[in-house]
Amino acid sequence: MIIDAHTHLDDQQFDNDRPAVIERAFASGVEKIINIGAGIGSSERSVKLAQKYKNIYASVGLHPSYFDQYQEKSFNYFSRLEELAKEEKVVAIGEIGLEYFRHNEKLITEQEKVNQQKGFIAQLELAQKLNLPVIIHCRGAKAERGKKYRETSEAYEDILEIINNFSQLKYVFHGFSGRLSFTKKVLLLKNVNFSFTGNITYAKSETEILTVIKTIPLERIIVETDCPYLAPVPKRGKRNEPSYVIYVAEKIAEIKKISKSIVFKKTRENTKNWFNLG
Ligand SMILES: [Zn+2]
Repeated sequence: MIIDAHTHLDDQQFDNDRPAVIERAFASGVEKIINIGAGIGSSERSVKLAQKYKNIYASVGLHPSYFDQYQEKSFNYFSRLEELAKEEKVVAIGEIGLEYFRHNEKLITEQEKVNQQKGFIAQLELAQKLNLPVIIHCRGAKAERGKKYRETSEAYEDILEIINNFSQLKYVFHGFSGRLSFTKKVLLLKNVNFSFTGNITYAKSETEILTVIKTIPLERIIVETDCPYLAPVPKRGKRNEPSYVIYVAEKIAEIKKISKSIVFKKTRENTKNWFNLG
């Protein structure tokens, strides 16, 4: 048995066969699923899905890109978000955080960063009020290096600074891909865990993420698909789904040179404890 701690089963890519995908997951050994909100609409859909299926839970939250330009408008969503967060099967606030990365050639502006930080902080206040753990989405900015672009650690450092002011909350870095130096800082905080997704199966042998995974004790690791995105090898390029979470766990077992069944068992326990799943 295994738990997929981060799915987007409400995504329209599942509109034609959602029940079949869910059934396949449970039939292949997935015990529980946490479906993630990334806006008001998806948070609502996430709650509905959790009401429909006993072993699906929901998180609700506003993704950082909500706050880039539409700050005033996005802050109006908070009363609805709070209502949703109080629903019975909501187990976390998320995914929330900072997204400084831009897919085009542009760089994020200082104003956009400040707006995202405000949105993040406001939702941490909600998590604190309702005593819910937080699922963090974090992606660095693009920085120019010659003609090539690379990610920077700025968003990670900003997240760390902000969550230090909310140290009584529990956090998970979802789809973690931080640097080793950053990982070591986070490991000093007992209230933060790490969740890995299919992109770890793309890593070549010399990649830093492998060292990161070796460094983090299994007691602080959970696994996820982030489906329909980031399908793990051997399903890379296809639509991802919860039953593929086993490939993520298997990769962790391979990296840590331990048995698959220990990774399945331990990540399942970690997820249950962290999110208080029944
Ligand atoms: Zn996600």
